[in-house]
Formats: sequence, C-alpha cells, structure tokens
Amino acid sequence: MQKIEHIGIAVANIDEAEARYEKLLNTKSYKREEVASENVITSFFKIGESKIELVASTNEDGTIAKYIEKKGEGMHHIAYAVEDINAEVVRMISEGFQPISKEPKKGADNKMVFFFHPKSANGVLVELCQEIK
Ligand code: ZN
Repeated sequence: MQKIEHIGIAVANIDEAEARYEKLLNTKSYKREEVASENVITSFFKIGESKIELVASTNEDGTIAKYIEKKGEGMHHIAYAVEDINAEVVRMISEGFQPISKEPKKGADNKMVFFFHPKSANGVLVELCQEIK
C-alpha cells in the first residue's frame, strides 16, 4: 500500500453534493466522470495530496442508491493506492479479506480498481487502485 488515494462519499444527488463540497473545500471539482460499467457518476476534488470522490448512482437500483437507502449518505469507502494491484489482491485474499470484485477493472480517474467487502475490514469498504500508465 502506498497511501490513501481518496475517500469515497456516497451521495444522492451529484449536482447538489458537488456544489456543497465546492463550498466546503473552497475549490472546484477537477473531474466529473461517469463509470458506465458501475452505473455511477463521480466527482473528484483535490486538496493538497488528498482526494475526495463523491459518488452517486445513475440508476435507481444501483449499488450506491441501495447503499443510501439502507445507510443514508456518508462515507462509503477508503481507496488505497497500490503499485501492483494483482499482487496486492492475491496478498489480501491470502490474508483472509473477502473480495467483492472478480478481477481488477477500469474505474474512475484513470485507475484499475478492486474492492474488498466491508465485513472483512471492520465495516469499511476497501478499494485498491492502481494508476493506469
Ligand atoms: Zn473510489
């Protein structure tokens, strides 16, 4: 693990949330990106070395919509930057963490991503991400 790449926040309405976080962080979102394979739209903010990702479902039965239905809006995941996502996935599975993804796939912000179940990480969804070069 290299560092925390970003913190993901589940939001119901991307426009409203983006406007609110532009005020909160006093900076504009640097990227808005839809990830069609996940049925989500994301908005990214950079503050110093840190990033915040707002994520909303683009359909009513998307995973983020279901999450918000159950738990409300809020912190959704912590994403860790890794150098070699395949090696890190193998390592974490061997340590007993429960994968959600089948294999790394292309996520938002030019990254390959892979998710581990919150049950195996004290209630926090874990995202691994590796920059696509
Ligand atoms: Zn993320």
